[in-house]
Amino acid sequence: MKQIQFIYKDEEAFDEDLRKISQWRDSRVYSTILFHIFTGKRDEKMIDFLCSKIRSVLPRALFAGCSAFGSIMNGDFTDAEIVISCTFFEYATTRVEALQYALTPGNLKEVAESLIREVEDRSWVKGIEMLTTIRGISMTDLCDGLSEIREGVEIFGGGALCDDINGVETCVFSSTGGYMEHGVVFLLLGGEDMHLEVSFITGWKPLGSYLHVTSADGNILKELNHKPAYETYYKYLHIENNEDFFLNTLEFPFFYHYHGIDIMRAPVTSNPDGSLVMTSDMNSGVEARIAYGDPWTILDATQDEASRLLPFVPDCIFVFSCAGRRTFWGDNEAGKETLSYQEVAPTSGFYTSGEFLRTGKYLNQHNVTQVIAAMREGEPKLIEKRRIGTPHKGFRGRVSIINRMATFIKATTEELEELNGQLSRMALTDGLTGLYNRREIQRRIISGIEEDRDDDIYLIMLDLDHFKQVNDVYGHKTGDEVLIAAAGVLKNEYGLLNEGDVSGRWGGEEFMIMVRSSDESEVPALAEKIRETIASLDFEGPGHVTASLGVTKIRPGENADAAVIRVDKAMYEGKEQGRNRVVFK
Ligand code: GH3
Ligand code: MG
Ligand code: MG
Repeated sequence: MKQIQFIYKDEEAFDEDLRKISQWRDSRVYSTILFHIFTGKRDEKMIDFLCSKIRSVLPRALFAGCSAFGSIMNGDFTDAEIVISCTFFEYATTRVEALQYALTPGNLKEVAESLIREVEDRSWVKGIEMLTTIRGISMTDLCDGLSEIREGVEIFGGGALCDDINGVETCVFSSTGGYMEHGVVFLLLGGEDMHLEVSFITGWKPLGSYLHVTSADGNILKELNHKPAYETYYKYLHIENNEDFFLNTLEFPFFYHYHGIDIMRAPVTSNPDGSLVMTSDMNSGVEARIAYGDPWTILDATQDEASRLLPFVPDCIFVFSCAGRRTFWGDNEAGKETLSYQEVAPTSGFYTSGEFLRTGKYLNQHNVTQVIAAMREGEPKLIEKRRIGTPHKGFRGRVSIINRMATFIKATTEELEELNGQLSRMALTDGLTGLYNRREIQRRIISGIEEDRDDDIYLIMLDLDHFKQVNDVYGHKTGDEVLIAAAGVLKNEYGLLNEGDVSGRWGGEEFMIMVRSSDESEVPALAEKIRETIASLDFEGPGHVTASLGVTKIRPGENADAAVIRVDKAMYEGKEQGRNRVVFK
């Protein structure tokens, strides 16, 4: 596999480039020649002109392209209007095919089904590069549909954009389907000697606290922590709901875990009701955080990724990098995060409106991400062991400040989270025994009753016998030790019966346990075991300490208070009957 990359200057220079390419082709046997064309403008005339030029000089060459927010050429950023790469496949076994479909909001499932059939007919397919228009259409159905493609086929690619990051004038085109303003091009790549290695990196850092997605519908993110989602952007970043909203929020996507990987989602627009239109679906229930780029983390990630690719010895590398990454770095430094790849193999690509990568079974749409596809034909060529040069980390101006601020915010957030965790643990638990406190156990009984489950809820109330004497005779400290040991019995010895069972300290030397069971004899037996274990403990000074226990089953339609009164009565009956016993009421 060989590759050359060049900028379109004018017709004359293009003729010359094509002439060189055709000479090169004549000098060797190539199975396929594939052009990638990325253009800043959705200019149908210009695109037709380029395509017909290629056709006239190289009638059998394939080409595919899209409008883009700048390109990556020889590993570096370029804002040149039109950038072209030409890949020569050298192995006779290598197969490349371009398929293209028009997209409408309603036909994504069909497109996916059709591609699945096409791939089923072609056992040679190992990877699918996807160039697609995105704006105005949720890609979820396409991603879900394509997740059904036979496992092992890599899928990667990017969404078209144009030189205006807010622009909606995007297109895709290929040698198969020509020019389309709403469409998708799939480049099928494979054959026994074709090898692919795909991955993604973000380098974005979650900042601030977790935000619970409390309401979402498809790609409409309605509420975070029960408040209109837009308020988050205003509260933390003072981003106004105006025409620059997309641009201003793009560098601050939401970051969350889904399908086992880290996903970033950026908003496209904000609605008058405060809901946000996202680039792709966000699921209700996930815990998301606002994220921001950390220059060092990003560069470390690209260097690691390039090093990882060294032993694969790729012939060329394609990068699909989010438009937001270009705006994040600024044009002077954007190339820094792709130059490491160029040390491994010729690297080309474009800045996208969404990145696609299949991880395991699932095809995910990413945002603010870099998707990297390395390709090779044949066995890895032997190369002298090399290392990737450390990327230049001497940032200037804005990026340097960003880096320090991101580090500062992260450190502060971690401190606050730690404190928050301590506070919420303190609010729920009893300081002496570590068991839940009365308020928490009450709350859990009430919510347990509300749960719709087939098994029954039982309460066990435990009160230590003659505990006042322990304190009076051996001191408060010994009393505390006895309480801790009794709590330990509840905590450790009987991890209770079922999921959802809990124990807590009800008051002084009183404990409450909530257990679930479908077997009426199981719970008194558990209480009996607890009684025996406590009685068997041996304390220095008081020796053996006993406890009286009441047990009751919560009755249908009954509230928590009624059941607590009954279990308290049961426990007191135990006291009256001579203590150190279990009474079931
Ligand atoms: P009975 O068998 O009837 O339950 O007798 P009792 O002595 O256990 O009953 P009572 O309720 O009169 O005494 C409870 C004692 O528990 C009173 C109090 O001093 C002690 N107590 C309550 N909280 C703590 C604590 O946190 N530490 C210690 N050491 N003692 C506590
Ligand atoms: Mg007592
Ligand atoms: Mg008591």
